[in-house]
Amino acid sequence: MRRKVAEGMLVVLSAPSGCGKTTLLKKVMADLPGLVFSVSHTTRAPRAGEKNGQDYFFVSREEFAFIRDRRPSGFLEWAEVHGNLYGTSRQEVERQRAAGLDVILDIDVQGAAQVRAAADPVTVFIAPPSLDELGRRLRSRGTEDEKTIALRLAGAEREMRAAVDYEYLIVNDDLDEAVESLRCVLIGERLRRRRNRVGQQVVGFELH
Ligand code: ADP
Ligand code: 5GP
Repeated sequence: MRRKVAEGMLVVLSAPSGCGKTTLLKKVMADLPGLVFSVSHTTRAPRAGEKNGQDYFFVSREEFAFIRDRRPSGFLEWAEVHGNLYGTSRQEVERQRAAGLDVILDIDVQGAAQVRAAADPVTVFIAPPSLDELGRRLRSRGTEDEKTIALRLAGAEREMRAAVDYEYLIVNDDLDEAVESLRCVLIGERLRRRRNRVGQQVVGFELH
């Protein structure tokens, strides 16, 4: 008899731009198997070094609108952030979760609200140690001009106010500590009885 594969969990990760979320995520994913990153669609231009299909699916506004309006799939959530459109493919997330993989969505606070209304995600907010440090990180990354940096910093204060709606709050001050905190959250969430496949088999009841 084939054992039913338990659906993977959905993890929403939000942070003001430049906070270090991508850096953090790459480190956590490198040594936690069973975790996949949901590659979003965006109308923003690729940064140097970004790869289509790996960091994002880079699309035109027309292509974005086509996917958004497609029925019955389309986007699980989408939003305009800093003047660009971003969206999560519903089909892709469902396919990966059905295969038992835990899917991480790196999305803004507007998208997080939509996912919270539609599904039962684990939600994590990553905060910078301060807004000054956030500005330093954005500048040190060297991928945006001053106008774009100012836009992202202005959005950061608004986004930080939405942190109260998240279950977990991690301050990315020391990178290694933040990596360990995120790892602990994910491992802890996997151990919840309703998700814990191995534990359920041991105590003798099936997932339902
Ligand atoms: P995000 O994905 O949140 O926009 P990035 O991961 O691109 O942010 O990080 C922005 C910049 O900050 C990068 O130059 C990165 O190396 C740096 N950075 C990330 N985390 C830390 C940290 N804990 N301390 C200092 N610098 C950091
Ligand atoms: P960046 O342009 O720096 O890669 O991302 C800018 C912001 O857009 C970040 O807050 C990031 O989390 C958010 N973002 C990336 N992909 C998505 C998505 O699919 N949906 C939503 N709502 N936001 C996204």
